[in-house]
Amino acid sequence: MNAQDRFSLGVSFIETREDLRTICIRGGYDPFVDPHGAILPPLYRGVTYAMPDTETAERMVSGKESGFVYGRFGNPTVEMLEQSVAQLEGSNAPALFLSGVDALACASGNAAHRLLITHFCSSGDNIVLSPYLYGGTRHLVQHRVSFANIEARFVEDPTDIESWRRLIDDKTQYLFVEMPTNPHGYVYDIRSLADLAHSFGKPLVVDSTIATPILLRPLEFGADIVIHSLTKGMAGFSQGMGGVLVGRKDIIHHLKISESRDEGSVLAPDAAWLIRLGIMTLYERMKRHAENTLSLTLTLQHHPRVRKVWHPLCSDHSSYAVASQLLDGYPPLVYMEIDGGEEETRRFMDALRFCRNCVHLGDLNTFATHCWSTTHGVLEPNEKASSGIVPNGVRFSVGGEDIACIVFDIMQALDKI
Ligand code: PLP
Repeated sequence: MNAQDRFSLGVSFIETREDLRTICIRGGYDPFVDPHGAILPPLYRGVTYAMPDTETAERMVSGKESGFVYGRFGNPTVEMLEQSVAQLEGSNAPALFLSGVDALACASGNAAHRLLITHFCSSGDNIVLSPYLYGGTRHLVQHRVSFANIEARFVEDPTDIESWRRLIDDKTQYLFVEMPTNPHGYVYDIRSLADLAHSFGKPLVVDSTIATPILLRPLEFGADIVIHSLTKGMAGFSQGMGGVLVGRKDIIHHLKISESRDEGSVLAPDAAWLIRLGIMTLYERMKRHAENTLSLTLTLQHHPRVRKVWHPLCSDHSSYAVASQLLDGYPPLVYMEIDGGEEETRRFMDALRFCRNCVHLGDLNTFATHCWSTTHGVLEPNEKASSGIVPNGVRFSVGGEDIACIVFDIMQALDKI
């Protein structure tokens, strides 16, 4: 049964994974570790920690012994968040992860991407990746790190394994996809991409920010590292910026004791605490987002002023078959092309009253975004074109409010174009 069928039968929008629901609430924290048994995880703001003696101090600083030393090296509240995300992504990870799954939190999603590049790449190396990306990620990999002579090689057709294979050489350090992609919702066959990457001895990295681990857990399908902007659906109410890298314990441990300390783009404990509180409701929120997303998608599909609607679980989306296999429910992002040009699209955006004009996504509030001029505005016109970003496109991040308010607002704004 596919996701659309499940909806028509009134069955759950999310595959039941009670363990995920429990991890959202309890993951990464044991109240009996707290001296007072606090149920609400404590917030440790302190930067420095007393070490018992010089020998232990040396081992802790070198990473040979666990323990807290200094804020840039690790923090108990940040670690609690990391453990909860590692459990969400890795609870079903395959035997490949015998050493276990760990996570490293960073100051933002972009900081996580940047750290990964620093970890894997040196001058002359390349990354092979899909061009369908959030504009900020694309700008980072294509322009920001080019000063270090690191090349971003974009595959022509990410659904075609051969077009990936052609670009891989001995200087390739990793393969990268965002999925579902922002904003088109493309989903790729992770297993085939992982097999290809592994046949060259390279890791596959997946940014699965939009799905969150409730809808997609790429490690289960063979990916080596997962990236999230925690700022988005994981946090859920715009209360904190953060990013995370999740993967094999040995890789993450190396990142923690080397690049992360040097770069210093660590997550602040206050933000970690707020994001961890957000995760407590993640499972329930994703269910609510999914219900609203499906209703909005079906409404938009039938509107005469809407030329095209993009959602991976719509049967006319090119990723529909693979998305139905991999996703456990409806990701909350819908992209539509208005029947008109940029002028009509801006008029539509400015006519919205209930949906907020924001560049953010994954929030309980519904947002509309003109990607052409904002999230992807930093890209050159040819780069926008190769990322499929058009002047008449609008992205909706579907929130958890009353669906009638969301739909009514969008209908009245479409009437004004
Ligand atoms: N990855 C995706 C898919 C995103 O949509 C974004 C931001 O929109 C990022 C990464 C960057 O995250 P942050 O804003 O937390 O740096």
